[in-house]
Amino acid sequence: MENLRSYLGGRWIVGSGDRVDLFNPATEEVVAGLLPDGLDYAAALTFARAQGGPALRSMTFAQRGAMLKTLAGALHAHRDELLDIGMLNGGNTRSDAKFDVDGAIGTLTYYAELGASLGDARWLIDGPSVSLARSSKVTAQHVLTPRVGVAVHVNAFNFPAWGLAEKAAVALLAGVPVFARPAPATAWLAARVMEIFVATDALPVGALSLSVGAPGDLLDHLGPQDVFAFTGSGKTGALLRGRPNLLASGTHVNVEADSLNGAVLGLDVERGGDTWTLMVSDLVRDITQKAGQKCTAIRRVLVPRERLDDLEEDVLERLAVVRTGDPRATGVTMGPLATAAQLEHVRTGLERLIASGARAVGGGPGRIDGEGVAAGKGYFVAPTLLRVDDAATGDAVHSHEVFGPSATLIPYASAGEAVALLARGGGGLVTSVYSEDRSFAAEVVMGTAPFHGRVTAVNAKVAGAWIGPGAVLPQLVHGGPGHAGGGEELGGARGLGLYLQRTAIQGYGPLVEFITGAGTRVG
Ligand code: NAP
Repeated sequence: MENLRSYLGGRWIVGSGDRVDLFNPATEEVVAGLLPDGLDYAAALTFARAQGGPALRSMTFAQRGAMLKTLAGALHAHRDELLDIGMLNGGNTRSDAKFDVDGAIGTLTYYAELGASLGDARWLIDGPSVSLARSSKVTAQHVLTPRVGVAVHVNAFNFPAWGLAEKAAVALLAGVPVFARPAPATAWLAARVMEIFVATDALPVGALSLSVGAPGDLLDHLGPQDVFAFTGSGKTGALLRGRPNLLASGTHVNVEADSLNGAVLGLDVERGGDTWTLMVSDLVRDITQKAGQKCTAIRRVLVPRERLDDLEEDVLERLAVVRTGDPRATGVTMGPLATAAQLEHVRTGLERLIASGARAVGGGPGRIDGEGVAAGKGYFVAPTLLRVDDAATGDAVHSHEVFGPSATLIPYASAGEAVALLARGGGGLVTSVYSEDRSFAAEVVMGTAPFHGRVTAVNAKVAGAWIGPGAVLPQLVHGGPGHAGGGEELGGARGLGLYLQRTAIQGYGPLVEFITGAGTRVG
């Protein structure tokens, strides 16, 4: 079995050291391997800055967009192969794998189109010119220019294709070279995506690098013009963002961390209606899709006290037909957790929520056997529904993310109480409000907006056009305050801001206009 390769300094490197195995989490069979050591990160980052940076900055937005379009097309041409890898190494059902791979293709395509629309400029003009005196003699203009460094992207294990592509699309379109480091446990898919990208010949030398090795001293070499964008747990994010060299050099840091995403069933919603059905579908999808290993998955469900039993019954009825097992086995609808460590994390996490006052009304913290797999093999847990009967208890439900197939029902009695309970999550990626009552929706949506990067307002009118709150769309910002890391990505042209320096150019009006005139205006 071959070892995965890193792509550093414009060439493929196998690495050295003791082999690390990658597993099929359904069967625990080894499916790939990597050698974690022997990678010269200082040289690779210098190469990216020296070669990739100037090449990208010399391209127009339209040319960078065309490059992204080629990358998207190449992934599409290899889609089936990529889906197979997601199933084998990620424990994804085919549908889960599509969510990852098609998300990668969709985000690249979106930013390709944005590049085309930004045209022949190489940097951006931010907003209108500002007059600084009574006459137009002295003006100022804000501009956004690409940072003259490298963007290091450290990604989580759960979206190896999308995680690599969504971050790379934005940085490359901005004109900044990328150094990506996927989580090793599921790095096979990211490494294959990289091979497909390189084979297109669309990328300038040094524009995109990838390490499947140990992080080693990677972050030690970042400086003031570099960007560090991290996705993973809040714990790792806090550790990495506080590294002395990042603080000392003012490296631009973005952290996308974990989140206790909410869903609020409106006080007005009757059992069995369209809004109720949308909420149940979204919740069941979020519990089971990617075995709940989705940063945007609903974790806390706020339910009017008198509807708790009904909602519990309807959700359990839907979960009862979920078939957990090897994603390649016929009829299986939920795969295993991605790693043995994840199994441990979910088991102990559920126990922690239960110890803090929640009770399991479906599933539970025990490991189970999966369909199509030998007994005792695979990292399987049952889809698990927890319930808290008194909103004043269950503290851990609001503070500890169980990154697996689980959500907790929590009673509430008023819009104000719903907003207060959501706030106990300490800041999240997304919360959804399901209600036909516009005043209730407005109060909860705007009350919880300061605590979230995205809030969805769902009513029966969106039925048929609704994809649920879990999908991260390139048009909309992704990220959240506080517990969610305080970062922000995507959001159309807004996402470019992470990689661009905003500068106010101030002086004699016609001169400012001459200097800045070649950019494309946004905002
Ligand atoms: P993690 O354990 O925090 O690891 C995240 C990444 O950081 C991995 O690639 C990891 O590599 C790397 N890492 C760890 N220590 C490092 C170091 N010293 N230097 C450089 N890199 C280092 O998280 P995970 O288990 O992969 O992912 C699950 C978590 O990610 C969940 O909490 C989930 O909510 C969150 N997540 C958030 C988002 C979002 O957009 N907000 C999206 C997806 C996932 P190793 O595996 O080698 O340690």
